[in-house]
Amino acid sequence: MKLLVTGGAGYVGSVCTALLVERGHQVTVLDDLSTGHADAVSPSARFVEGDVATHAAALLAEGMDGVLHFAAKSLVGESVEHPELYWFGNVVTSLKLLEAVRAAGTPRLVFSSTAATYGEPEQIPITEDAPTRPTNPYGATKLAIDHAITSYANAHGLAAVSLRYFNVAGAHGGLGERHIVETHLIPLVLQVVTGQREHITIYGDDWPTPDGTCLRDYIHVRDLAEAHLLALEHATAGAHRIYNLGTGTGFSVVEVIEACRRVTGHPIPAQVAARRAGDPAVLVASSARATADLGWRPELTSLDTIVGDAWQLIQQRAGVA
Ligand code: UDP
Repeated sequence: MKLLVTGGAGYVGSVCTALLVERGHQVTVLDDLSTGHADAVSPSARFVEGDVATHAAALLAEGMDGVLHFAAKSLVGESVEHPELYWFGNVVTSLKLLEAVRAAGTPRLVFSSTAATYGEPEQIPITEDAPTRPTNPYGATKLAIDHAITSYANAHGLAAVSLRYFNVAGAHGGLGERHIVETHLIPLVLQVVTGQREHITIYGDDWPTPDGTCLRDYIHVRDLAEAHLLALEHATAGAHRIYNLGTGTGFSVVEVIEACRRVTGHPIPAQVAARRAGDPAVLVASSARATADLGWRPELTSLDTIVGDAWQLIQQRAGVA
């Protein structure tokens, strides 16, 4: 297929682009490099530097078979402090993209949604029928876009799929997390190993979980990318399907730190601090719907594999592996 990938220079977008070109798709990446890196874009893809609101329409007018929309702002804390960046950067931009899709008659859309659309869950594992009550502007903006996509699919016949990611981690094909502002647990723990920080802070050990630290569902970026290809294949005109993507297993913050110790052989000092505002105790996905409809099954589900792949890439970048 001839595809437009917005945000293809970012973490998930770049891994997905690599997989798409590997499978023979003709990919154009549109990314403004506000958080992405040009060198993360597969050399087999065409790269257009620019923002979605300004440049997507002309690219879609070339006649694309589909668009994968990754470009977004995605920091929870920043979204609380500067919601305007998220309402304009995520919602307004995505509405412009939807209008460009409609104008060009682009038949398919795959959208990067998030578990943050659910907020504090009532039941674990979280299914797609769970109530959506986001607890921060980031989740609220992604949910607003999901609603817009539903109405465009219903009214204009778009074949749309939203994929709600849980905790994406790991690396694939030399591509991994490279955030300027890092807030995610696994890269932060590995920064202790590389000497960029002295210890990892555990945000609370008094949660109602077996070891008192929060449980999250860590999904390997390679498995996540695979789901996008399946979503493209299975998208149906006039329908907007939503799928949760996780492994169905929760790992605690302490278990993640222990996996990092095993993989790196570093003692990784940890210090317990107060809970972080807005953190739910447990976030674990049910991906039963993605398995049933798309035939998707995560394969790289061991925490040591996920952490090991992230660590290997860090070493490669440092020139020691
Ligand atoms: N966390 C932590 N210390 C850190 C960063 C994160 O204890 O320095 C915890 C955080 O409270 C949450 C889990 O690790 O329970 C995963 O956080 P992350 O920011 O990676 O992803 P989130 O689940 O917030 O999307």
